[in-house]
Amino acid sequence: MKYNRCGKSGLLLPQISLGLWHNFGSVDNFENGENIVKEAFDSGITHFDLANNYGPVPGSAETNFGRILKNNFQGNLRDQMVISTKAGYTMWDGPYGDWGSRKYLLSSLDQSLKRMNLEYVDIFYSHRPDPETPIEETMMALDYAVRSGKALYVGISNYSAEQTKVAVEVLKQLGTPCLIHQAKYSMLQRWVEDGLLDVLEDKGVGCIAFSPLAQGLLTDKYLKGIPEHSRASNPNGHLKRDEVTDDKIQKLIQLNEIALNRNQSLAQMALAWIMKDNRITSVLIGASSVGQLKNNLDSLGNTNFSSDEINTINNILIS
Ligand code: NDP
Repeated sequence: MKYNRCGKSGLLLPQISLGLWHNFGSVDNFENGENIVKEAFDSGITHFDLANNYGPVPGSAETNFGRILKNNFQGNLRDQMVISTKAGYTMWDGPYGDWGSRKYLLSSLDQSLKRMNLEYVDIFYSHRPDPETPIEETMMALDYAVRSGKALYVGISNYSAEQTKVAVEVLKQLGTPCLIHQAKYSMLQRWVEDGLLDVLEDKGVGCIAFSPLAQGLLTDKYLKGIPEHSRASNPNGHLKRDEVTDDKIQKLIQLNEIALNRNQSLAQMALAWIMKDNRITSVLIGASSVGQLKNNLDSLGNTNFSSDEINTINNILIS
């Protein structure tokens, strides 16, 4: 595993991190999730990403991760891990279980720590910007999470380039630097190239790319339609059947050809394609099996692209 410095901080993150959004809920097989986490850690993945609402049911991924830690990672191993959680999407009923108020963020963090049976998380995120709450209030809540010892660092997720500039500045004034931005980024979703990555580089903030495989689309699994046991066929999955369009499949088939010429799987090429940009600190993958995880880890073997390959890929993506 290669470890990259997160922005201008002292923290190193693995080139590939593991997220527990899908496959770790109370509806999923616990042992499968446990094996994925164990394999990840043994392969050098030190960073595990959660959020209050991951499941389903919401909260159950944190509860299961707490069990996995208790079963397998006792003692000083905690010091070898970077664990993150977030609050920002709907978590509980009533006016205090959503968005970006201080009330919600700090109660939610306490709940997350209880579920995971942790004293602190390494990174606590505002999961999304809140148009109704002053950004100062949301950032003061993050700052307080650090000052109260419940988080070591803070980050933001899904903030636009403009919102990021403001959030980073407010955090700086408060004395708690913004460590990282967690943003959706893949060959099929390139909005971060349109200003956000420049802002992050300029401000010395790291970037972790989520859904780098576009939830599994950028693998060889959808080349012939939607197979059973895939996220798009799973009623709990966030990838909807109508997102697997013929147009996308045509692009995936062409991308797969390039991957094969590089002696890579499409998944490996899609991850390598993100890693080629040194503004990206880490690529945050999901996996529903140990086999997928291993396949994805092998992307680290070849992260170089010729300019011909880059141009051909761009032409396919914009066609
Ligand atoms: P990916 O784009 O990596 O998709 C992962 C899914 O793709 C797997 O669960 C699996 O789905 C499929 N897959 C993975 N590897 C392979 C392979 N080698 N071959 C075939 N299929 C494969 O990431 P996610 O969408 O899961 O997101 C990753 C993490 O990012 C989340 O866990 C979370 O931590 C974070 N995230 C953050 C968000 C935010 O708002 N901040 C939002 C979304 C995610 P299957 O086998 O079931 O088809």
